[in-house]
Amino acid sequence: MTDTVERAARPTTSERYSGPPLAGGPGGPAELRRLIDIVLTSLVDGAAARGGPLPAGDPSELKREVLSSLGEVLPEEGAGPDVLGPLARMFAWGASDLADPAWSAHLLCPPLALSVAADVAATALNADLASWDQTPAGIVLEGEVIAALAELVGFDPATAAGVVTSGGTESNFMGLLLARDAVRPRHPGAADAPGPGGGRPRIFASRVAHVSVRRNAALLGLGTSAVVPVDVDENYRMDPRALHAAMERAAAAGDAPLLVVATAGTTDFGSIDPLREIVPIARAWGASVHVDAAYGGGVLFSDRLSGLLDHIEAVDSVSLDLHKFGWQPVGAGVFLARRAETFDPLAVRAAYLNPEDDEEAGYTSNLGRSLLTTRRGDVFKIAVTLRALGRSGLGALVDTCCERARYAADRVRAEPRLELVAEPTLSTVVFRYRPAQDDPVSSDRINAGLRRRLLRGGTAVIGRTDLTGEAGGIRLKFTTLNPRTTEADVRGLIASVIAAGVAEEEARCANATDNRSN
Ligand SMILES: *Cc1c(COP(=O)(O)O)cnc(C)c1O
Repeated sequence: MTDTVERAARPTTSERYSGPPLAGGPGGPAELRRLIDIVLTSLVDGAAARGGPLPAGDPSELKREVLSSLGEVLPEEGAGPDVLGPLARMFAWGASDLADPAWSAHLLCPPLALSVAADVAATALNADLASWDQTPAGIVLEGEVIAALAELVGFDPATAAGVVTSGGTESNFMGLLLARDAVRPRHPGAADAPGPGGGRPRIFASRVAHVSVRRNAALLGLGTSAVVPVDVDENYRMDPRALHAAMERAAAAGDAPLLVVATAGTTDFGSIDPLREIVPIARAWGASVHVDAAYGGGVLFSDRLSGLLDHIEAVDSVSLDLHKFGWQPVGAGVFLARRAETFDPLAVRAAYLNPEDDEEAGYTSNLGRSLLTTRRGDVFKIAVTLRALGRSGLGALVDTCCERARYAADRVRAEPRLELVAEPTLSTVVFRYRPAQDDPVSSDRINAGLRRRLLRGGTAVIGRTDLTGEAGGIRLKFTTLNPRTTEADVRGLIASVIAAGVAEEEARCANATDNRSN
């Protein structure tokens, strides 16, 4: 080791810092252990005070509690570190408990204790992936995690590339951005079309694709009208014939079919677009294919279910979200490209982060893979989880959640007061409460009302969507990402929904009677 230098001497006592303790350095972890212990006690106390998946009460009551516990948020003189315990208790009380079986509302998982503990390490280190000298081990881990996930998808890890992102929205943004900026041959139908790539860029996504696709198109300056909604079949999967027709129409109008965004696991239905049919259609028009597998990507961990993503290895890029199926705390998104060159348009050089001679000497960074500069060391908790549970461990959790959803669907179908909208593909169950007076207006009122009634009681947190224009109007949704939920829990949740529906109908009846008699 001839090219190393001696460390400088430690400061003397009189030069030592006496401000608020830091998380790092000598004494940092000991201080952190003391504070984390306070936080953990507060989590227990807050959960006990909450007594369910959500605190009971209406929004104004909740706000009053939070504000009275908080006091002045930026006082002239600070209140000192003793605020941590009471505020953590309030925060836990005023939060959702994702691990409560009656919490079944969104594609947000109860994170693994292991992953949260790992994340403490990344947070305490303030691990930042922007440059080698900030988190060298993180740069290495990101390479390994991306290679493993690329292989899971079926890409060749030697030629694929990827990056850890904040979530599906950012990953989908990258899919659109890199397709827009790719150097591509013109599609066959537009040889004479004007401009680079020929005509206005068009993105094709099923009409039940995630809202981020349209939003990202707007952010990229393509406009929401650049996203052509493609019809779905009765199972909410993109209809390949409709895709072909839409691309043909666009090409005939002189537009440039840029990208097909297929969804593997739609947010409401978990439906998976037929990739084997979609890919050749997209290719025929010279378009790339991005798969939004933010939700459904998790089935790749499961031997039983991975076939649902048949042909994903043939697409150009993929979004994954390990804060859904993956049991990571937010954020844990991943963007993968089949060919590393896809990232070329993002290449960036900053003298203070990744100078060329440093990179040549092996001090590499992933700056040119990400939209961000400072980037959390989310890769650490992901690496720990993948290593600890393995593919089969994560697959078993995915299987359990999907089984529970099927059980819930069976129970919904068996209940005369409930109506199932579609068979679950993954772990969501869309249904509605059927009121005695079953017209669309009453159904919407009762279903929306019963969900708020469950929130107000702190009884259950369930999802809601709106199918106006197709199967009807407001629908309710169970989203099963809690592997600890039992069949008995599912029955309990369904009983709560029905009880809330009955109570809502009775309340409306009583109101109507009052109004008449007044
Ligand atoms: C959740 C989800 C997204 C968005 O992911 P975020 O992590 O919330 O940004 C995108 N697409 C689908 C299909 C999703 O379910």
